[in-house]
Parts: sequence; structure tokens; C-alpha cells
Amino acid sequence: SAGPADMSPEVWEKVKNHPCYSEEAHHHYARMHVAVAPACNIQCNYCNRKYDCANESRPGVVSEKLTPEQASKKVLAVASAIPQMTVLGIAGPGDPLANPEKTFKTFELISKTAPDIKLCLSTNGLTLPDHVETIKSFNVDHVTITINMVDPEVGQHIYPWIYYRNKRWKGIDAARILSERQLLGLEMLTEAGILCKVNSVMIPGINDQHLVEVNRAVKSRGAFLHNIMPLISAPEHGTVFGLNGQRGPSAQELKALQDACEGEMNMMRHCRQCRADAVGLLGEDRSAEFTTEKIDAMA
Ligand code: SF4
Ligand code: SF4
Repeated sequence: SAGPADMSPEVWEKVKNHPCYSEEAHHHYARMHVAVAPACNIQCNYCNRKYDCANESRPGVVSEKLTPEQASKKVLAVASAIPQMTVLGIAGPGDPLANPEKTFKTFELISKTAPDIKLCLSTNGLTLPDHVETIKSFNVDHVTITINMVDPEVGQHIYPWIYYRNKRWKGIDAARILSERQLLGLEMLTEAGILCKVNSVMIPGINDQHLVEVNRAVKSRGAFLHNIMPLISAPEHGTVFGLNGQRGPSAQELKALQDACEGEMNMMRHCRQCRADAVGLLGEDRSAEFTTEKIDAMA
């Protein structure tokens, strides 16, 4: 995996303590997510809104939703219990930037009470360009954008609709707007020196061939890391893909695609598709130790 020899000292400063950006760091540093953002402004065919946002999380998981105040309390409780906790991320259960008041209120509270904790955010990108200034103002160093296509012809099979500028858009138009906004947001973040990870969900027969092109498009706009994740689809998830019998890729298909993109840029291979309320080292889930009930009892 990439190390200090592969990047400038400024970039390495941002990478070395973030368990998702550095394969090495993920053995030593912990992250937590707080589920403060319930709404979403698009529909993905692999998502069922009863569960966490499937752009970042394992499908079929329900996280405990928190208010910004509860989230801030939880961060303090976790930080004192887990000293290696370096990063707080907001990744759902909907889209963090479709809930900007809740997301940024949470950042505001945490930056006051726990200024050493790095803030991190993931988004579908639709409203990202509108929020880049605010993201910068909180010194956020890491943003994840889920980009599954750069061609609306492909996108129309992944996104049935988006809700944008007080209007519902469908089909090719929806996919075109979403793609333009995602790529613009990525360029603006890169320009601001914020490290971007791009998540892509690999959907056989829909975007699997196309993701090499996505990889090139995001690399040329300065994305730091590309995380190609397998579609996890089952009828019981109640998603369009699940109900239609859309399969996910095999481990070999996923690896072949990651290998095909590897020469182009850093590929993330240690993503665990964490819950929107994950706590701890990657791969260890301590969320059950830090429910609101337990945190209130600690106080
Ligand atoms: Fe679901 Fe996330 Fe897609 Fe919104 S962006 S529809 S929450 S997977
Ligand atoms: Fe890191 Fe992947 Fe978990 Fe996000 S879902 S916190 S990128 S390991």
C-alpha cells in the first residue's frame, strides 16, 4: 500500500492517521461513525431506506439515529474509552449532505468539545458543490463520494430518480445532473486540498465494464483513493436489484477489476463496508458498547 515515499509530506500528514486512507493505519487507529443524517435526495437501485445508506455501509443494517447533541456526547464517551480514536465520520443513515443542518451542527459541536478529532464525511455528491466552503471551514481533510458511473446511459439503470433544486428528475436527466455534480464536487475538493476517496459499487452487467472509465475520470480530477466495493444484493434487502435477482460480483471478478485499475491509482482493498454507527478499529465493531442508553448511564 502507499506510504510516505509515494506522496508529499502534507498529504502524508492527512493519510497516516486515517484507518481508511492508509492500510497501515487501520491496524492502529480507530474511527467512528455517527448516524445523524436520515434523509436522502436520490434513489439508488441497491438501497432500501429502511436500512443504512448502502453507498458506504453493508446493506441490511439499521443504525441508531442520533441528534447532533447525542452524537457529540457519544464522541466524547468513545474518545475517552478508545484513545486510538482519531476520526469521526458521518456516513448516514441517509446522505450527510441531504441533511446539512444536522451534519454541520454535529461537526460544530465536536470541533468545540474534541478539537483533536479529525472530521470525515461521505456523500452521493448531488449537493456537494454547494457545501465545499462549509466543509473547508471545519478543516475536513477527507471526503468520500460514491461515483458509480460517468455516463448517464449507464446511470439511468442505477438511479431511478434524484430530487434536485425542488424538482424530481428521472432517467437520463437525473443521471446526467448527478454525474455533473459529483465530478464538479470532486474537482472543487481537490482544488481545496481535501483528500477524496471515491467509492464505486460494482454491479455486474450494469457498470462493471464501465468502472475502468470511472477510475480514469476520477483519477484525472485528483481523487486520492478508489474503493471499488461489491454489490451485496439479496431479496430480503427489498431493493430493486435484490427483488430483480441482480447478482453481486464474485471475489475473482472484484479482484480482476481492482487489478485492472491498480496501475492508474491507489486502490483501497481493506474497506469493511461499515455501519453508519460503527465504532472501533476497522473490522472490529464496538457499536453495541456505545448505545445512547449506555452513554447516558456512563454520565
Ligand atoms: Fe440509499 Fe445512500 Fe443511495 Fe441515498 S445515496 S439512496 S441512502 S444508498
Ligand atoms: Fe473506512 Fe470502508 Fe468503513 Fe468507510 S466503510 S469507515 S471507508 S472501512
